Amino acid sequence: MAVSIKQFGMFIGGAWQPAAGDGYIDVYDPAKGEVFAQVPRGHKADLDAAVAAAERGLAVWRDTHPAERARILFKLAQTIRARANELAEIESQDTGGSVQGALWTVNDVCARRFEYYAGIADKVLGHTFVTPNAYFSYTLRGPRGVTVHIVPWNGPLWIGSRTIAPALAAGNSLIVKPSSEAPLSLLKLAEMASACGVPAGVFNVITGTGSELGDALTLHSRIDAIYFTGSGFTGKRVLKNAAENFTPAMMELGGKSPNIVMADADMEAALNGALWAIFANAGQICVAGSRLLVEKKIHAEFVDRLAELARGLQLGKEADMGPLISARQRDSVLSYIATGRHEAQLVTGGGVPDDPALRGGYFVEPTIFDNVSPAATIAKEEIFGPVLAVTPFDDIDEAIAIANHSEYGLASAVWTANLKTAHIVAQRLESAQVYINHYFTAGYELSRTPYKASGFGSSEGPDAIYEYLRTKTVSINLK
Ligand code: NDP
Repeated sequence: MAVSIKQFGMFIGGAWQPAAGDGYIDVYDPAKGEVFAQVPRGHKADLDAAVAAAERGLAVWRDTHPAERARILFKLAQTIRARANELAEIESQDTGGSVQGALWTVNDVCARRFEYYAGIADKVLGHTFVTPNAYFSYTLRGPRGVTVHIVPWNGPLWIGSRTIAPALAAGNSLIVKPSSEAPLSLLKLAEMASACGVPAGVFNVITGTGSELGDALTLHSRIDAIYFTGSGFTGKRVLKNAAENFTPAMMELGGKSPNIVMADADMEAALNGALWAIFANAGQICVAGSRLLVEKKIHAEFVDRLAELARGLQLGKEADMGPLISARQRDSVLSYIATGRHEAQLVTGGGVPDDPALRGGYFVEPTIFDNVSPAATIAKEEIFGPVLAVTPFDDIDEAIAIANHSEYGLASAVWTANLKTAHIVAQRLESAQVYINHYFTAGYELSRTPYKASGFGSSEGPDAIYEYLRTKTVSINLK
């Protein structure tokens, strides 16, 4: 049966627009390996149209009363919740994740972030300083201007909303470039924002591949700030381009997060935590717990039981673990597994499933390697797939040394019954987030800053709003 392929436009200036040139990009359903949609293959002319629209949008949004901006963003959050099923269906088909998982993202992450930053929009304050009988000075805070948001494919609504919501709250206009692998949900979000009262030109979404559109986007002289989430490889190129115009660029990059299990941990909880830390979203999460460090006293039993749990996971779009985003990503993960076979001991997984029902989709088995040296490639490089590297350790000092022996510093976890150990480890880990006796963030209300090659700039919580504002000092002569 022929699959019907839906064609989308770009969302520029508050309306759907065709591309200036011709040509479309195929969007694949990763669970089936079939094209189900197409988006325009955007070029410099589309970008110029988006920049012009964003400049017009900025003039309106910057001068909109912050309380009105807050009302519009609250309305958007309500709309996201009311139309959660629709957004979740799109996100699920686009990324290969389950509808259930996408629904959680839509409600608990995306809508929540708009609520949170709607609440902050009218609470941005400046400072005053008085030099007696000399000067009265105060600060003015305003939006940075036209901002670019480059988003990866592994969770467009999850990751996109992290910079889009505070940027809108702060009064900026936006040009969002989703990944060409998963562009649809952010296009839909822009349409919803427009229907909720975000003025035309404030929230634009352009489509196209990074290799064709990326340089034009990041070298554009009328961009005031760039918010990039993606790989370190692309991040470096974006930074070099941004330097040409001194455009500030914030980076949220990769990770290789250590998950430390002490012998005194609640074993059931730690097993469950370690399992999902790496196999949720098939390991395609920047903070995935891809390095498991287990105290030697419990190492053998822990790995046996974890492997048993991994073998029990059902693969499938609506099952325990979905596919990878693309054939390219699947092949990259399989190539890391091939390297791992020479470096460490394969405990389970290591291939593609032989279930005929999964043929066509980009599935890889949940894979665990044991006795992995911290110097091994599979312990050092971000694989971004369902591949876990387990390393045993003798004591907490060794665990911390191994954990910090990484070019990355995005997330980490420790499982222990000892509160003192937990706090000491939390202080010593070079990591933007530390989870104690759980894995994955507990909410989005607190800020964090990545270490090392995981990037820089504050995300989430109240501090993040300052990444989207500039500060001006005004001083008045009283003499
Ligand atoms: P990429 O770096 O390949 O792509 C990220 C985005 O950049 C995509 O929109 C891509 O577009 C675009 N892009 C590609 N080339 C260029 C270019 N030359 N100039 C400008 N933009 C470009 O990353 P992936 O999409 O593969 O995402 C996975 C990576 O993202 C992992 O390293 C992961 O850790 C990281 N990540 C980090 C997060 C964090 O919070 N720290 C969160 C989620 C992911 P296109 O796809 O169309 O080519």
